[in-house]
Amino acid sequence: MSESTASSRTHEDKLNQLAEVAVRVGLGLQAGQELLMTASLDALPLARRITEQAYRAGASLVTTLYSDDEAALMRYHFAPDASFDRAPAWLYDGMGAAFKSGAARLAIAGGNPALLSNEDPSKVSRANRAVSLAYRPALELITRHAINWTIVANATPAWAAAVFPNAAPDAALAKLWDAIFETTRINGPDPVAAWKAHDANLQTRAARLNEKRYAALQYRGPGTDFRLGLADDHLWLGGGTTAGNGLYCIPNMPTEEVFTTPHKDRADGTVTATKPLSHQGTMIEGIQVRFEKGRIVEARATRGQEVLQTLINTDEGARHLGEVALVPHSSPIAASGMLFFNTLFDENAASHIALGQAYSSCLRDGDKLTPEQLAAKGANDSLIHVDWMIGSGSLDIDGITATGTVEPLMRQGEWA
Ligand code: ZN
Ligand code: ZN
Repeated sequence: MSESTASSRTHEDKLNQLAEVAVRVGLGLQAGQELLMTASLDALPLARRITEQAYRAGASLVTTLYSDDEAALMRYHFAPDASFDRAPAWLYDGMGAAFKSGAARLAIAGGNPALLSNEDPSKVSRANRAVSLAYRPALELITRHAINWTIVANATPAWAAAVFPNAAPDAALAKLWDAIFETTRINGPDPVAAWKAHDANLQTRAARLNEKRYAALQYRGPGTDFRLGLADDHLWLGGGTTAGNGLYCIPNMPTEEVFTTPHKDRADGTVTATKPLSHQGTMIEGIQVRFEKGRIVEARATRGQEVLQTLINTDEGARHLGEVALVPHSSPIAASGMLFFNTLFDENAASHIALGQAYSSCLRDGDKLTPEQLAAKGANDSLIHVDWMIGSGSLDIDGITATGTVEPLMRQGEWA
């Protein structure tokens, strides 16, 4: 990254470049396409830049759904109990209708990671469950990659305070923005070219793993001794992907992972998280779980135990794995040494696994398979998809072939 180029640009310049990269590279928005964006009111400046860039790229219509943290908290403080089993189904139906009629989807992430930490965990999980149920049909179009979509982040004062608790508010916000620009490759002289090169690297890494066709991965590290079978006909993906509508998108910015679908019934052993997890505004720390035949049979957390228990009790699939991702410990986000308390960043700083829903795009011809066929290949099904980090500089991973040959895949957190 070129420091001189970076420092000669203002915050506004970089915000504009982030918006441009999000629209042109992340989303791959096509001229004439509609865009449906979600953003918090704190992200208004970035949302406006993205709106401008989308229209410049030929968007036929940009519609943004804004949310507000303060209003979200008022529900917990003043709403009747029955409120927590409700979700605006009409809104999610409308989002689904937009996706089906060809709209692209962009989410601006980056709220207060501990917004709901002091609220009743059972209300939080009931509200999450109601949203998951209502959003499911629309979300399925995203997880199947039927449409082009992406997620980018916006720094907010509350998030910055969580990441830099010892810095003054303005300094914390500036530091968080700088980390976002650095990890989303905006600081270099040509962000679009940087993304194309990075995407090609991730594609190459995924292609190498696809040639190997490992049947299982074996993990060994502090508190982790774990064997994970991969789904039959699994496909490793990394970087961009061609969505069902034919448009090429890079779904997460930043992204450093190569990932695939594990077999939902083939996980055995103990796994210990290496980073805290911010889940829907609550913190879960010190997660340790034990799997038997793919199913979590023991789970504990040093903080947020109740949230974790409610989470894995969401449905049967919430106790099984839907994603396995490999990220070298030297990735730029890991190298920053920062803990973002935001999955978009933290999952790209460490190898991780996800409880819940599998991505059918991580199976050969997965988008053409019925739910029964997907399940037969080992793809998990759940209302939730929650990533948590298990990678570190002391994690070793072996690849195990179908004939039982063991090959070193990662050593001390780096590609072997
Ligand atoms: Zn992932
Ligand atoms: Zn995930």
